[in-house]
Amino acid sequence: MRVLVLGAGVVGVTAAYYLQKDGHNVTVIDRQSGSGLETSFANGGQISPSNAAPWATPEVPKQMLKWIGRNDAPLLYRMRLDPKLWAWSLRFLANCTAQNFAKNTVKNLRLALYSRALLQDIRKDTGIQYDYLERGILKVFRNERDFKNAAKQGNILRELGSDNQVLNATEIKNLEPAYNTSPDKIIGGIFTPEDESGDAFKFSIELTTYLASLGVDFRFTETVKSLKTVGNRIVSIITDKASIEGDAIVVSMGSYSPFLLQPLGIKLPIQPAKGYSVTIPTAGHNGAPKISITDEDYKIVFTRLGNRMRVAGTVEFNGYDTQINEERANSINNIAQSLFPNAGDYAKAEFWTGLRPLTPDCVPIIGPTNFENLFLNTGHGSLGWTMCAGSAKVLSDIISGRIPEIDISDIGINRF
Ligand SMILES: Cc1cc2nc3c(=O)[nH]c(=O)nc-3n(C[C@H](O)[C@H](O)[C@H](O)COP(=O)(O)OP(=O)(O)OC[C@H]3O[C@@H](n4cnc5c(N)ncnc54)[C@H](O)[C@@H]3O)c2cc1C
Repeated sequence: MRVLVLGAGVVGVTAAYYLQKDGHNVTVIDRQSGSGLETSFANGGQISPSNAAPWATPEVPKQMLKWIGRNDAPLLYRMRLDPKLWAWSLRFLANCTAQNFAKNTVKNLRLALYSRALLQDIRKDTGIQYDYLERGILKVFRNERDFKNAAKQGNILRELGSDNQVLNATEIKNLEPAYNTSPDKIIGGIFTPEDESGDAFKFSIELTTYLASLGVDFRFTETVKSLKTVGNRIVSIITDKASIEGDAIVVSMGSYSPFLLQPLGIKLPIQPAKGYSVTIPTAGHNGAPKISITDEDYKIVFTRLGNRMRVAGTVEFNGYDTQINEERANSINNIAQSLFPNAGDYAKAEFWTGLRPLTPDCVPIIGPTNFENLFLNTGHGSLGWTMCAGSAKVLSDIISGRIPEIDISDIGINRF
C-alpha cells in the first residue's frame, strides 16, 4: 500500500517506521526543512509513563483560580474571544472529575507503558543514538500533603503496571547527588526506575536518516493544503507543490491537524497548549542532575541530554503564538539556577517554545475516521514523545489489518 504520513514530528516519523516495517511504501510530507522542527524540537525529553495522569485532574479548577493574573503562573489563560477555545475548555473542565481522571489515566498509562517498551526495541533495531538515558524519573515534593497524595497515586500507578518507589530526602540525595549541592528543601519523592529520557529531536532526525536509507520518501518544505475526496475516500492530498495519491493517509500534524480536517466535517478538539524550554550547556560543571526530574511545585521537568540540561514546563493557552516571552523563559531559567546553581552556564541558556496538541481529556486521538482510508495519529498533548512508539505501532496494526496488541477502545475520534 502507498501510505502518506502528513507531518514529520516525532509522532509522524515513528509512524513511518512501523509502516515501513510492515512493508508499505511510505511517503512523509512536512512543511519544515527537516523532521522534528516544531513541537518535537526541544521538549522536556521525558519518556514518562509516570506522568501519564492527565492534566485534567480534580484539583485543577481550584489551582487555576489561584494562578489567575500571575504572569509567572505554570498555567496561563490569555482571555480571548475564541469560541473553539471556550468550548474546548468546558470539555476540559468536564474531564476534571475523579471518575474521568481515573479513566483517562488508565488509557494513557496503558499506551505509555507499551510505548516505552517499543522504544527500546526501536533502539535495538536501528542502533540510533539520541542522548537517551535509562536512569528513571524522580518526582520531588516540598510539602507533606502533596507528597502523601502522590504516594497514593503512586500506589495506583504501581497496581496498573508502572513500578515506583517512595523515597525520603536522604534516599533522594543518595540516588541523585545533585541534591547534595542544592539549597533545595525537598522532603521526598517518587522514583520510577524504568522510565527513560532522551532527545526527541535527535531521535526524529536519526530515525529519518535510517528510514530514508530504507527507501521512505521524505518530502520537506512542502505544505499540505487540502484533501481531495470522492465519496468516503481520500483520493489525493493537495500540497503547495503537487497533488499526491495514496492508498492510506495518516494525519500527524500536531496542533495543526484540525485545520486540514475541518473542511471534511471532522472536528478535532485539539488546542495548542504552549510550553517553554530552556537548554543549558553543562560542560565543565558538575551540579546538574543525572536523573530526569519532575518538580511538582514548579511544574517543570529537568532532563540531562548529553552535555546539556533541558528544563521545560509551563502551559499557556494563547492561540498559535510561539513567540518567546522573556519574562516566562527567564522565570524557568531562574528557578533552575536557584535549585541547581552549579548545573551549567545559565548565561548561555537557549530558550524555546512549542505548542502541545492537547485534547480535552488529555488522551491522544488514534485510529480510523469515517473516510475509509483516512487515519489519525495526533493530539498527544504533553506525552507525544512518551507515546510515539506505541501510537505508531497501534496505527500501523490498524492500517495493516491486524488487531493491535493493546486495548485501544476509546482512543479514537468517536469518543468525542
Ligand atoms: C515545553 C514542552 C515540554 C514537553 N515535554 C515532553 C516530555 O518531557 N515528554 C513527552 O512525552 N512529551 C513532551 N512534550 C510533548 C511533545 O513534545 C509533543 O506531544 C510532541 O512533540 C507532538 O509531536 P507531533 O509529531 O504530534 O507534533 P509536531 O512535532 O508539532 O509535528 C507536527 C508536524 O506537522 C507539520 N505540519 C503541520 N502542518 C502542516 C502542513 N499543513 N503541511 C505540512 N506539514 C505540516 C509540522 O511542520 C510538524 O513538523 C512537551 C511539549 C512541550 C511544548
